[in-house]
Amino acid sequence: MRYCKGCGFPVPYGKFLAWTSDGTIIGRDAARTRLVYIEVDELRALYDGVSRLMNSPVDPLVYRAEKEVGKRFIKTLIPAFLAKAPRGKLARPEAAIKATSKYVFNYMAGLGMGRAEVYEYHSGEHSRVLLTDPHSVPLIAGDGAGVFEFVERIGVQAGWQRIKAAEYIVTIQRVSEEPPVEEEFALEEIQYHPGNVQMEKCPRCGVPIAVTGSIYLNFEKGILRHSKTGVRLVAMPVESFNAVARELTREFGAALPGLMEGLEQKYTRDASNVRETVPPGSSILDMFRDFPWMGTGNPVWANLEGGKVVIAIDNPFHPGIVAGRVAGIYEAWTGSVVRTTWIEDVPGRVTVTLERVA
Ligand SMILES: [Zn+2]
Repeated sequence: MRYCKGCGFPVPYGKFLAWTSDGTIIGRDAARTRLVYIEVDELRALYDGVSRLMNSPVDPLVYRAEKEVGKRFIKTLIPAFLAKAPRGKLARPEAAIKATSKYVFNYMAGLGMGRAEVYEYHSGEHSRVLLTDPHSVPLIAGDGAGVFEFVERIGVQAGWQRIKAAEYIVTIQRVSEEPPVEEEFALEEIQYHPGNVQMEKCPRCGVPIAVTGSIYLNFEKGILRHSKTGVRLVAMPVESFNAVARELTREFGAALPGLMEGLEQKYTRDASNVRETVPPGSSILDMFRDFPWMGTGNPVWANLEGGKVVIAIDNPFHPGIVAGRVAGIYEAWTGSVVRTTWIEDVPGRVTVTLERVA
């Protein structure tokens, strides 16, 4: 791994990712995958919280949702010749698969997803993958199963087990001769609201100083941490986050989105260090100044309206979750408790209203 002489960050980072002026992070892959930095504990708080409140494990749902989107995300990284070659040991020698997967796993490590290694691959049959420090086992198992299905053109099922504190084995197994029929997704280009976020960037590699100054990447381990708080982060495809949220709503019904927003608000209120980083007397918008470099969205205005605080965020990675986060940060900063409502009156803009209740 080469590191930038300007900022010390891994060189490929700036090659793969672009920070825009509209509060988004866009991958320079063919699909222009949008990414967002999320705390790993935040993701777990959401999934475990739903699991607890619904009294039902969510891992199989997370896995199922990711299998479809992960396939499309990883597809853009896999050499076409591998996907087009006929099945079988001759066409897909284990060594070629291992080399290709290494490339994909390096990419994932750079995003903070931990380390993965293929240690068994039988074309058309099964594969076993070792995960170390995964940010989420069902998400990575979903990616792996999706890729195996795509490359091998068969239907597969994945299962996993923990073998050590931070090590897991994912087993991917053929279950049918043909892959399941894929839903046809119209890959429309999303139009983002233009913004005027300005970020000072490293002149050598182009990664914003706000990023290199805020996070530390241990590439060998695939672990990304906030350099000041030590909190672990992951850069996650937004489409993965949304696909899981949709799947959970499909399973548990219309109450689910509001429930996840509440979990997000509570997690953020308890975990936010905004009181240490944003001095008293700052403007409301200052509380959300990390949003653009994290790809959360672009905070565009905040107003006081009849005792309520109204905040607009353009291009939120998920309107309800961003509304929950806005509320949680506000609560952490003010030490108050708020009731949150939000609307997406224009596509791609969430307007959040906070009303103090305590
Ligand atoms: Zn640099």
